Amino acid sequence: MALPPPKSVPPLARFPEEWAEEAVRLGGRTFHGKQVFRWVQARGVTDAMEMTDLPAALRGRLAEGGLGGVLSIVQERRATDDTRKLLVGLRDGANVETVLIPRVAGFKGGLPASSGPSSGEEDADAAAAVEDEDDPDTSTGPVPVTQCISTQVGCAMGCVFCASGVAGLKRHMGADEIVAQVLVGRARLDAGEQLRNVVFMGMGEPLHNYESTVRALRLLTHPDGIGLSTRKVTVSTSGLVPEIERLGNDFNGQIGLAISLHAADDETRTRLMPINKKYPLDVLMKALRAYPLPRRRRITIEYTLVAGKNDNVAEARKLAKLLRGLPVKVNLIPMNPIEASTLGPPELSGVLAFQRVLCDAGYSCFIRRRRGDDVSAACGQLALLGAKPKVRVNRS
Ligand code: SAH
Ligand code: SF4
Repeated sequence: MALPPPKSVPPLARFPEEWAEEAVRLGGRTFHGKQVFRWVQARGVTDAMEMTDLPAALRGRLAEGGLGGVLSIVQERRATDDTRKLLVGLRDGANVETVLIPRVAGFKGGLPASSGPSSGEEDADAAAAVEDEDDPDTSTGPVPVTQCISTQVGCAMGCVFCASGVAGLKRHMGADEIVAQVLVGRARLDAGEQLRNVVFMGMGEPLHNYESTVRALRLLTHPDGIGLSTRKVTVSTSGLVPEIERLGNDFNGQIGLAISLHAADDETRTRLMPINKKYPLDVLMKALRAYPLPRRRRITIEYTLVAGKNDNVAEARKLAKLLRGLPVKVNLIPMNPIEASTLGPPELSGVLAFQRVLCDAGYSCFIRRRRGDDVSAACGQLALLGAKPKVRVNRS
């Protein structure tokens, strides 16, 4: 007997309740839904024939539909620091990147990492910034890994220093494609590693693809699935104000928030990030102040330093003033050169001078150092450089 067409939600994006409907449709029982969800999300099994606790008939019918095949790994490059950059091929032939970044031994304190947006074929560069101060000492336990994932093929926001922005938006990614990156990444962890953080800092603007991003967030943090704590998942945005508000409401502020600020005045910011015309700094700052941030949590401010554009100490002072009273930590990212632009990073002395101003003003301020440079010279993954210059938190 021909079955009705499969549900419109793709398999890897289904919640247990949706799997339950599907199980019933295929002749199984409601409780099989949770079992399938666990197999797929918690164990990463997408061959239904391996789901040994399901009735054979249901297994067969699930297998007919096929559950996986959303993406393939086109290339994996491993840097000497064990950062792995995976070039992911989607079903329509588009490529995006995801990056696995193990914490460097002995380094602790606000570790971030990630892939960052880029051209896909070229490397992405990373960014990330996750609240990790609460992580237990890992010197004896598993090595915590941060994974940076993409949410769009390209990006519509047009930031001038960003390869994705220059490339433009090709398409949104589905929640299944977003989650599949984590399933694949988790399966590729080395022995002794543990996926601890996921950052939405790869290619694309997650809040421009709001529905899929939110579904992916709910899947990644589902206790019967991958089971990440909401505190360990960070969404980075160029500042889409209505969606920042929605995200705050939808998750009660529990999802980590990183804001790509890159300038402390509208003129400079609009030049670097066209989205600032739509949501200028006063509107953005108001949304950040209203974000229902849990106690003792901070918003990460990302500031890509572009030589001659936003990197002088007067701008650092302006930034310190702009952020006053907001619980933040600041990540300074010396710009990675991209092919499509002559823009570049300041000298290290300039980066340090900028950092000094923020530290002196009482902010936790980090400089991201590149990770995995030997696999992505143009736009290498980044992680924090050194320990915190100051541990004071700006809460005035
Ligand atoms: N679209 C989101 C998330 C992806 S970008 C956002 O903009 O926040 C992740 C971070 O990488 C952003 O802070 C972005 O500004 C930064 N970035 C992009 N291109 C870069 C480059 N060439 N050098 C350094 N940082 C870059
Ligand atoms: Fe790049 Fe993020 Fe800007 Fe998009 S929003 S162009 S991904 S920096």
